Amino acid sequence: MLPTQRKAKKWQNLNGWLNKLQVNMGQRCPSVCYICCMATVWLKKQIAPRIGNGHPWIYSNEIDSVKGEVSGGEIVDVVFHTGKPVGRGYYNPLSQIQVRLLTRKQEKIDETFFLQKIRKAWEYRRKLGYTKNCRLVFGEADDLPALIIDKFNDVFVIQTLALGMDKWKQAIVDALIELFSPRGIYERNDVPVRELEGLPQQKGPLYGDFLTDVPIVENGLHFLVDVANGQKTGHFLDQQDNRKAIASIVKDAEVLGVFTYTGTFEIHAAHYGAKTVLGLDVSEQAVERARINAGLNGLDTRCTFQAGNAFDLLKAWGKEGRKFDVVMLDPPAFTKSRSHIDKALTGYKEINLRGMQLIRDGGFLVSSSCTNLVSEEQFLQTIEDAARDAKKRIRQVLLGHQSGDHPIVRGIDNTHYLKFLIAEVTDK
Ligand code: SAH
Repeated sequence: MLPTQRKAKKWQNLNGWLNKLQVNMGQRCPSVCYICCMATVWLKKQIAPRIGNGHPWIYSNEIDSVKGEVSGGEIVDVVFHTGKPVGRGYYNPLSQIQVRLLTRKQEKIDETFFLQKIRKAWEYRRKLGYTKNCRLVFGEADDLPALIIDKFNDVFVIQTLALGMDKWKQAIVDALIELFSPRGIYERNDVPVRELEGLPQQKGPLYGDFLTDVPIVENGLHFLVDVANGQKTGHFLDQQDNRKAIASIVKDAEVLGVFTYTGTFEIHAAHYGAKTVLGLDVSEQAVERARINAGLNGLDTRCTFQAGNAFDLLKAWGKEGRKFDVVMLDPPAFTKSRSHIDKALTGYKEINLRGMQLIRDGGFLVSSSCTNLVSEEQFLQTIEDAARDAKKRIRQVLLGHQSGDHPIVRGIDNTHYLKFLIAEVTDK
């Protein structure tokens, strides 16, 4: 054994022994007295390498024991089976993910902790050039598991999706007030995933007296974001850079945008010189908003929006022999559960196949998938399968992902969720 290894081993043993002693005596961490009542979660020997590699989730079957008193949502110390510290996180015995780690350090989790984390997240976005609108906090990718904060100019939309994060909601609001002096903060916790954590679904303003239709400018274009009733937080910031990526392929083109929502891709297409743009979405409310957004940009003569079911209409238009130069597809996740992944892949294949059948020889497909349950390989394979069935050849122009304000952390798979492909489509 090398001297450094010997030293590490000695330290590990000593620390394990100390932790055990402190736990037994009920006086852990004598150096930081505020946590005297903090419980310790001991991990099993056999845990997923994931945890050691930086993943913040600890499942119930990875926990050996919990020493000390702890209620749902409280902060716990986490140690490996040797007693070596893992870090600190919040605990929920009701959830399958019983601990989500907030830090790998022995640091105090308090209001200042959240203020500093949010400040750091903002510095990162600013460094990348996001100044007005961005995902300010992207949960695990910002070491703030289950917290989403979207910044729309001077209005912030937050989601606290786990009990342990929900407990710090006021601290998060206070941090936003201190850092940004915002016009408003709105809570969009009307999401079913909260129920898995024993939390109610709820939404409403948390701070400020403001109109919930928030004007934003994205890539020089104007959009009105409905933070109260729009989907998710009101606007899909994750595609903001991909919307710019279509500029070169839409000039003078007849464009079809399927799953248009508030018309974002479609209005970009018209702005970048498309001859005509048709946007399609099943939601009447979304289509209405898309029309308003097109009008805001003076592009309502070139943009038309229609409400309808994509599966039915793409099939019908295929039969009619309707053609477009560019077809853009940005469907919803189709599934939230790994057990229904086949159903989702079938859905993706069908819309890509039908979409490709509508593309003129030499036109372009713009296709996205927004679920982390479908890997990039599965996504590409599905499009290849669809192309084969549609008797088309595809040439990849660009393969992308979500914009940089939604950072992908290597080792935390679910942070890479959006796949984005631009491909040329030719007849075989
Ligand atoms: N392209 C949008 C986001 C699309 S989100 C953007 O960048 O902002 C997915 C959209 O698909 C939602 O607006 C939803 O209403 C719509 N949708 C879901 N199922 C549909 C279906 N079967 N047919 C048409 N639209 C559908």
